[in-house]
Amino acid sequence: MSWHNNVVREPFYRRRATIVFMKAVIALGGNAILRRGERGTAEEQFAHVRTAVRQIVPLIAGGDAVLITHGNGPQVGDILLKNECARDTLPIMPLDICGAESQGMIGYMIQQSLENALAEDGIRRPVISVVTQTVVDPDDPAFTDPKKPIGPFYTEGEAALFSRERGWTMAPSDASETAFRRVVPSPEPLDIVEHPSIRTLVNEGFVVVAGGGGGIPVRRDGTGRLAGVEAVVDKDLAAERLATGIGAEMLLVLTDVPSAFLRYGTPDQAPLGRVSADEIETLLHDGHFPEGSMGPKVRACIRFVREGGQTAVITSLDLISEALAGTAGTRVVP
Ligand code: ADP
Ligand code: MG
Repeated sequence: MSWHNNVVREPFYRRRATIVFMKAVIALGGNAILRRGERGTAEEQFAHVRTAVRQIVPLIAGGDAVLITHGNGPQVGDILLKNECARDTLPIMPLDICGAESQGMIGYMIQQSLENALAEDGIRRPVISVVTQTVVDPDDPAFTDPKKPIGPFYTEGEAALFSRERGWTMAPSDASETAFRRVVPSPEPLDIVEHPSIRTLVNEGFVVVAGGGGGIPVRRDGTGRLAGVEAVVDKDLAAERLATGIGAEMLLVLTDVPSAFLRYGTPDQAPLGRVSADEIETLLHDGHFPEGSMGPKVRACIRFVREGGQTAVITSLDLISEALAGTAGTRVVP
């Protein structure tokens, strides 16, 4: 069953005029907020967020309904490290609570920056952040094969200690043979718990920030009760669940490359423009889009258009308007 037919009521953005406005979900890459190599001070993060939201203002100004979702990798890494530094003084927080903290801090930065940017342009649209949970299947194969590295680097001795004391799965890091990191499962997102509330907010004209870091992973027990799980959901795959859940027409995946490329990183790499879901799926199977980076973006786009979405675009933050006009980015259509 498709969620697209469950429109709560006539959305505000169609009531306006003869112009048909669209409902768009924008997924911001982690590097849009905290750059590798930076210390990640509040000022640095705020500065990047301000730059990022400036690119989104024209869309909102044009009357489109917009939901913003974002990565949280660097921020949750810092939160985990802070926990570790204070471990003799304060209890260590589980990963779901760290994820919720990161949604609050990033949501706040986006919300305030966007409120200010809209006010500067004289646009009156309310902005709100929603703490969001993502349901995963406890039987997802990812739980028997944790792969996603998170948090600080540890010595071999610490790795052995924490796997004994805390039950963590530790794996040697790619970055250095002597360093170890905690690895957690990255299960497929099934559903966004709050999507009906989020859909209502978006349809009423609120600009919503939700699903940060892929959402807080939770499972449902036999009676439907929710509980947090120690996992990380891919933010691009969760963005698709959100976009589908709120009946969006467009999914915009914004990252640090202008589009998806064929043979990326080789001398004959080529940008990919407009493609069908079937075409790009074949390219995915041919190995053009690696799992840790471009792969989930492509999979999110394919799933979105197959679940009823009209267009999914992969591009960079500074190319939003060109991508909407169809002159930049990779555009996946049904
Ligand atoms: P984000 O934080 O936005 O999710 P990622 O690092 O996960 O960013 O993914 C974007 C990166 O994917 C690019 O910086 C690029 O290096 C990498 N990449 C891998 N394969 C491709 C490809 N086929 N086309 C474009 N970029 C690719
Ligand atoms: Mg990524």
